[in-house]
Formats: sequence, C-alpha cells, structure tokens
Amino acid sequence: MPMNESHSTSPFTEEEEMYRRTVRAFFDRELDPHAEKFVGDLDYDRAFWRKAGAAGLLGAAIPEEYGGPGASGLCSVVLQHELGRSTGGTTVGTSIGNDIVTSLLVKGGSESLVRRWAPGILSGDIRQCFAVTEAEAGSDITALRTSAVREGDHYVVNGSKIFSSNANKAELIYFVAKTDPSKRGRGCSMFVVEADTPGISRRGMETMGYDAYDVAEIHFDNVRVPAENLLLGEGRAFELIFYIFGLERLEVAARALGEAELAFRLALDYVKERKQFGQRIFDFQNTQFKLAEMKTDIEVGLAFFHDGVRKYRSGNFNLTDGSMLKLWITEMSSRVVDASLQMFGGAGFMREMTISRLYRGNRLHRLYGGTSELQKVSIAKSL
Ligand SMILES: Cc1cc2nc3c(=O)[nH]c(=O)nc-3n(C[C@H](O)[C@H](O)[C@H](O)COP(=O)(O)OP(=O)(O)OC[C@H]3O[C@@H](n4cnc5c(N)ncnc54)[C@H](O)[C@@H]3O)c2cc1C
Repeated sequence: MPMNESHSTSPFTEEEEMYRRTVRAFFDRELDPHAEKFVGDLDYDRAFWRKAGAAGLLGAAIPEEYGGPGASGLCSVVLQHELGRSTGGTTVGTSIGNDIVTSLLVKGGSESLVRRWAPGILSGDIRQCFAVTEAEAGSDITALRTSAVREGDHYVVNGSKIFSSNANKAELIYFVAKTDPSKRGRGCSMFVVEADTPGISRRGMETMGYDAYDVAEIHFDNVRVPAENLLLGEGRAFELIFYIFGLERLEVAARALGEAELAFRLALDYVKERKQFGQRIFDFQNTQFKLAEMKTDIEVGLAFFHDGVRKYRSGNFNLTDGSMLKLWITEMSSRVVDASLQMFGGAGFMREMTISRLYRGNRLHRLYGGTSELQKVSIAKSL
C-alpha cells in the first residue's frame, strides 16, 4: 500500500521535503533493521546519535552563524512523522526527536552558551533532555518544588524531577526550578546544566512501551549552576515553555499520525495474506468496512495536521489549535492502532510483533505533552 498517497496537499517546503527524504533514508538504513539492538544497550544508542549527526539530522534549528543549517522548526515535526511511520520507531521512544529543546537554547541562551554547545548538538555528541515534571507537579506544573537560590555568580539547586525523556543518557539537562517560591508560574525559571555537574544523580525508569525508551528521575542535591545558564531571565520559564508548546503539540500529533499510518499498513498487509474459512481475512466485509473507516480517519487526521502546519508557518497556530490537534489526532491514532491489532487476532498480542509494540508505545501520546483531559481544559477555556 503506498501509505504516503494522500488527498491532502503537503504544506511542507522543498527544503523540508528534502530533510524528510534524508530522515527516511537514515531510518531505513540505521534504525529499522537494527531497532532490536537499542533495547538495553546504551552504547548502541551512542553510535546511532553520532551517525544521525553525521547524516545532518540533528540541530536543524541552530542558526547558520553557529554552524547549524538554520532550518525551520518544522523539520523536527517532519522527523517525528517519519519516526512514527518507521517500524524501528516502535522501539526507541522520543529519543532522537528531543531536538525541540535546542530552540530553547537558541531563544533563551547567551551567545557563549550556544557557541559552546551547538557543535556537540549537531554532531550527536551532546544529547539533551527537558525536565519539568515532578512527583507533585504533573498536569499542574506551576506546583513544582525544585528550588534555585542565587549565591553570587551561581544558583544552588535542590529537588527532583520524574519521567524525563532521554534523561539517563543526556549530556545536557534543561530544567525548570522556582527562583521565587512565593509565586506560581512567575516564580519559575529555566536553566540548562551539564549532566555531569556534581550533585546530579539519575535513575532509570521502566516503561510499558517503546522498549528502548530512556526515561529517568533526576535528583539535584546542592547543585551549583552558573548564573549564565539561566535561560531568558528569572521568572520567565513559561515564556519559553509557551514558545515551544505549539511545536511540541504538532510533534506529538505528527508521531501519532505516523503510527496510525504504520498500523494501517501492517494490518492491510497481514489481512491480505492470512486466510481463515477458506478466504483471506481481507475478503470479509467487516474487515473492509473497518479498513475503510481507518483510512478515512487517517486522511482526516492528515488534512487537520497539514492545516496546523500551515497555521504554524504563518504564525497563526495558537494554543487552542495545538490542543485540538493533539487531542484529536492522538485519540484517532489509538483507535486505528487498536483496530489494526484486532485484525492480527492472537498474533497481535505477541510481544515481538511490531503491531504489539506499536499498541503499547502509542498509548503514551494521550498522556505526555499534556494529557487529553488537559487539552480539553485548554480548549474549553477558549470558548
Ligand atoms: C514516558 C513519559 C515521558 C515523559 N517525558 C517527559 C519529559 O521529557 N519531560 C517532562 O517534564 N515530563 C515528561 N513526562 C511527564 C508528562 O508530561 C506527565 O506525565 C503528564 O503531563 C501528566 O502528569 P501526571 O503524570 O502527573 O498526571 P496527573 O497530572 O496526576 O493526572 C492524572 C489524571 O488526572 C487528570 N487530570 C489532571 N488534572 C486535571 C484537570 N484539571 N481536569 C481533568 N482531569 C485532570 C489527567 O488527565 C490524568 O488522567 C513524561 C511522561 C511519560 C509517561
């Protein structure tokens, strides 16, 4: 099935489509055939990141004056879409897609910080993570308790983060802490710090999906962070968070959409091969009706997604647009993945099957980056 065949015209530029072809070729070569090796092997991951850097996949948002390509933020959306479509993407979680935080550095960091880290981000020697969530501050991130107290030309940081993607391996940690505990959002500031700074410890967490997903807790115990590593300024964390919110929601939607396309393709191939009662599973009208519904769902999702990309490019993609897009596409994707697994019968329940991995990992999209309920809260506020 030509899964890219669609009736919605692409909103991506020639440059972004070229980037897509590079990403696709890289995943075909370096990810899909080897995805199994990522499970439990951090060294393999290290080599993969360097190869991704050499192929030009990383740091797309770094401006030319810092040695980057200065491409649009939409390249990271393209990357997520292709990750969703690739069979290897069912193993690696967000991993390579965490480039979104680079735009925080470019937007909020001093020139010397960007100069120091841009080369490593581009080459894949520096991996990054973004830690906001805490045990008591999930959907309500303004309740976070990690503190940063100014002492001369440093901040002393204490507290703990959980569920941070990429955090075990990351060389750079972006995190949000309270510089003014008497305030909620306006008391929050964002910092970036090298992961080997004394006082930082990390502990990996096991997830139900994406078997090679690197998710960790991060503990800060009297960590001295140079004042220069404060991004944008004290109390301005939410300006930065809102700066990437739109892109983050487009990225999650892109990944979920790609996964719906992959699930559909896997199911279609399977039902055209598998026979019961003397005919292909595809030949039962129930299967055909279900596939027709799934294909229609994907096309609607693609058109909605493309509309979001156009709005983003023209500067008209607001938070409500992002919430509606993330909500609808992630829920649609779960429906399609579930229906696809059903077509595999018992084989779909076997852990090693790609459809089974997809089913477990895909569940995440309705949880992170703001749960479906929080997207509804945000949409309702705009009414
Ligand atoms: C694999 C994984 C990777 C992650 N990666 C990162 C990362 O890199 N960085 C990071 O900072 N965080 C990360 N997260 C955290 C993620 O963003 C949070 O888990 C998410 O925002 C939900 O917070 P919570 O888990 O504390 O759930 P809670 O906020 O405790 O919510 C529990 C339930 O209550 C509902 N609920 C909460 N408030 C409301 C409300 N006002 N109205 C209605 N219902 C409500 C929720 O929708 C949910 O169903 C990750 C999480 C996972 C699972």
